[in-house]
Amino acid sequence: DLVPIRRALISVSDKTGLLDFARALDARGVKLLSTGGTAKALREAGLSVRDVADVTGFPEMMDGRVKTLHPAVHGGLLALRDDQEHLAAMEAHGIAPIDLLVVNLYPFEETVAKGAAYDDCIENIDIGGPAMIRAAAKNHAFVNVVVDVADYHALLAELDANDDRTTLAFRQRLAQAAYARTAAYDAAVSTWMAAAIGETTPRRRAFAGTLAQSLRYGENPHQKAAFYTDGSARPGVATAKQWQGKELSYNNINDTDAAFELVAEFGAGSGPACAIIKHANPCGVARGATLAEAYGRAFDCDRTSAFGGIIALNQPLDGATAAEISNIFTEVVIAPGADEAAREIFAKKKNLRLLTTDGLPDPSVASLAFRQVSGGFLVQDKDNGAIGAADLKVVTKRAPTEQEIADLLFAWTVAKHVKSNAIVYVKDGATVGVGAGQMSRVDSTRIAARKAQDMAEALGLAAPLTQGSVVASDAFFPFSDGLLTAAEAGATAVVQPGGSVRDEEVIAAADEAGLAMVFTGMRHFRH
Ligand code: 5GP
Repeated sequence: DLVPIRRALISVSDKTGLLDFARALDARGVKLLSTGGTAKALREAGLSVRDVADVTGFPEMMDGRVKTLHPAVHGGLLALRDDQEHLAAMEAHGIAPIDLLVVNLYPFEETVAKGAAYDDCIENIDIGGPAMIRAAAKNHAFVNVVVDVADYHALLAELDANDDRTTLAFRQRLAQAAYARTAAYDAAVSTWMAAAIGETTPRRRAFAGTLAQSLRYGENPHQKAAFYTDGSARPGVATAKQWQGKELSYNNINDTDAAFELVAEFGAGSGPACAIIKHANPCGVARGATLAEAYGRAFDCDRTSAFGGIIALNQPLDGATAAEISNIFTEVVIAPGADEAAREIFAKKKNLRLLTTDGLPDPSVASLAFRQVSGGFLVQDKDNGAIGAADLKVVTKRAPTEQEIADLLFAWTVAKHVKSNAIVYVKDGATVGVGAGQMSRVDSTRIAARKAQDMAEALGLAAPLTQGSVVASDAFFPFSDGLLTAAEAGATAVVQPGGSVRDEEVIAAADEAGLAMVFTGMRHFRH
């Protein structure tokens, strides 16, 4: 199953590494065949190359839409080298075999990412490239197909190791990558088109990703796992620079994403903010006059859970904050930058992973969220819903004070990032109790209050921090019991979507307890 490479067709948009690779092939006696731009680049470097147009007998035409779509090319890629009829057809029609295809496609994904106009995106859909890739990959029994610049070196190493030939196993791996590439390419085209034509529930959907990292294991050690990026290149865990610490694990990536998406709700312009995440839920979120203070206040919400947590900051990490964070064990810190003082302090904490990004994620960006279920997957818009003070509808006799409104909005924003049923107590721009993921809303209310009580005891406070706090509920209170539990814990104001059949009963209970309550008309379930 070892086959030599005598003739290669190279047609690449991204010409990175092209010349070195072509020279190395040329040095091994491989004849080169190329399309216009690629041939020009090779010739300018002094390499001898034949034009595809010369082989097909047709000039490249229609703005390059038709270059390689010809039997002289596809026959050369598809012919079975051990089939007499195929060989006879090649002979009869003057078709020469192509043993290596090197193609990277028109930059469709990059064109879309730049925000190009519709027609420009359409023009950047490669047709001949994918056709050749699929043909060459199908015929991997005889043909090598390279679609990644990263594989140039691997191909040369394979030739070196096998006396200028390649093994079937190697060609199979190339073919697998090739089909993944054309699938990803068409997935990008189809996803872009759905958005461009406003089709939110297309009958067919295709998704694809590029391997960013093989993970040691998944959520648990017996699960295999890997991290794939979707090419959207937004600030976030997928594009962050890691300065130090071990490789991120599956759970680290998931939690870091949750932390950074949450803290990004508080734009850098709105003052320092910090979120600490454990098991995808926040165990402390706070603003502060300084970043160090924001961290300290977030930490004080639940010091026990914050141990081994994931910390996200909405401003570049500074030395003072890094020193505070260093006092306990933390898995990951992510921030839109880190100054030298901070990096020096962290350098002493070898196991701490520090990630920095160029800016914060945009919480208003529209994107899709997926969930796998047996037999399929669910797709929905990412929850980018947001409300402001003007959207709050006061439903109680007492209206919230200005300070309460600020805290209610803060609590509501945090609740959006807490698994349902979510209950979040907030005081002065800091969470003081978080109840997450309970099957009953009243339990979440109780758990959050009890944790605040525990913290008060640990900090030696006279009363729990929920005294004089406000509370947010991600969905409506179906009964008044949850609301009354919050009132007992000391909450003075409540934010919730409203919309329960028992709203009247819940409002009456709020009035009786002297609470101010506002409805958002928006729900933030998160499961
Ligand atoms: P070049 O820079 O060599 O002129 O063009 C290289 C690009 O053309 C590659 O990205 C390759 O995939 C693409 N290509 C090759 N053949 C065809 C074709 O027949 N139609 C279209 N639309 N693109 C092609």
